[in-house]
Amino acid sequence: MFDKILISRCFLGENVRYNSEIIPLKHELLTLWQRQDRLIAICPEVSGGLSVPREPAEQQLNNKIITISGRDVSAQFNLGAKQALTLCRQHNIRFALLKESSPSCGTTLIYDGSFSNKKILGQGVTSRILTQEGIKVFSENNFEKLINLLDKTDRY
Ligand code: SF4
Repeated sequence: MFDKILISRCFLGENVRYNSEIIPLKHELLTLWQRQDRLIAICPEVSGGLSVPREPAEQQLNNKIITISGRDVSAQFNLGAKQALTLCRQHNIRFALLKESSPSCGTTLIYDGSFSNKKILGQGVTSRILTQEGIKVFSENNFEKLINLLDKTDRY
């Protein structure tokens, strides 16, 4: 039995990004994992009720998520994160592959809340909740680490 992996929907080339840009993560293993039916995809922001396209949003120092026009969308971000966690529990997921720097999915970096394109160390809302629950999160920047880990843990 293979481990299932939670994955950001935008990595699969789906139109879920805030600006409607399609940026798939291309890797032969992703194609294989899709064929093996081991990818469980979610866009926490869309699942939380936000539209495509939507205003850019960034995490503030108080952990609230505010859009560039000042709208508080923390509730939608938190709802999407809870849905991601529910999926992980339903599928016994221990690993997630998430888009770096997103206010939901960022695993080690997020934008600093000033909308000036500056990144700081930190995790997006979903990434943080999954990490707190013991799920190991990876991004496109350390995808190789996930591959190595799965090589060691895959149960046939
Ligand atoms: Fe991709 Fe995550 Fe942003 Fe959705 S919330 S578009 S899955 S990075």
